[in-house]
Amino acid sequence: MSTKGLIERLNKGPVICAEGFLFEIERRGYMSSGQFVPMVSLEHPEALENLHKDFQHAGSDIVQAFTYNGHREKMRVIGKEELLEPLNRSALKIAKKVAISTPKGIEPNLMAGNISNSNIWKENDSKSQLEVEKMFAEMVGWALEEGADMLIGETFYYAEEAYKALEVMKKTGLPCVITIAPMGENIMRDGVSIVDTCKELEQLGGDVVGMNCFRGPATMMPYLKEVRKALKCHVAALPINFRTTEEHPTFFNLPDNNGCACHSPHGRTFPTALDPLQCNRYEIRKFAKEAFGLGVNYLGVCCGANPMLIREVAESVGLKVPASKYKEDMSTHFIYGTNKSIAKHMRDYGDKA
Ligand SMILES: [Zn+2]
Repeated sequence: MSTKGLIERLNKGPVICAEGFLFEIERRGYMSSGQFVPMVSLEHPEALENLHKDFQHAGSDIVQAFTYNGHREKMRVIGKEELLEPLNRSALKIAKKVAISTPKGIEPNLMAGNISNSNIWKENDSKSQLEVEKMFAEMVGWALEEGADMLIGETFYYAEEAYKALEVMKKTGLPCVITIAPMGENIMRDGVSIVDTCKELEQLGGDVVGMNCFRGPATMMPYLKEVRKALKCHVAALPINFRTTEEHPTFFNLPDNNGCACHSPHGRTFPTALDPLQCNRYEIRKFAKEAFGLGVNYLGVCCGANPMLIREVAESVGLKVPASKYKEDMSTHFIYGTNKSIAKHMRDYGDKA
């Protein structure tokens, strides 16, 4: 079966991309929270492969290599710089393996190489910027060698860093997705507005431009609407799965005012005590449907994503995916079912259960 490219797929309709590997791999017990280095591709490759397969089953069209934070700077911080290239190549190989082995009848997925926020980018500091450029270039080079079909640059909160990432990615000739993640001030850290950053990314040749991470549906949607209006290219939307608010637009300072009986030892809900602040599946479904209605064809979920939510995103835009076989069916529930075989004395007990 031939593989259609990213743009061809987007021109035809929705394309689903699962992100949020960091939180999900941590939750599954293969990564230290806070440190957040994706050693999993070397230490437990089977766990990473399984997660990719679960997302694929749920409808992700893209297998994004898990190299988030797998860059030279972070590897240096944890004293494992010598594992940088093996980690990247392993993550890319696992992603490629899953991408080309879709279930029967389903078009092969696209394998995406990935670069992201370096956390050492500094305004007006050419030394740090050159270092970041080199980090991007080596990772993009490995992605190309390992057969990436496309590239994703994501979670940038400096406009200039996003521009640099795109510049490096564009040199490969592969389709490029570039998404930004403005922090709580609702502006990029170098002072450029969200919409202006996206407009510039389109001008610089971004094939898909948009937003990912840090913001839940409620605080991403208002900006997404503006971005969609301002751009002609394809737009991406991958919110986190948490109930951010106007007062707390990102998950970094999100308070738990929901009867928490034991707060985290480090004093904030991010990143280990966010669980009660999650969106439910219907909220994610509503966001994805609304975004698609606006003309946003590249859809997914970032931190807090799980396969069930990816299935909800896919189904909200009319797709049927392998996991659709197991979608919600309350009709046969033992108390709340509508099936006529459910005993009346059980149905009548529903409000007291
Ligand atoms: Zn994220």
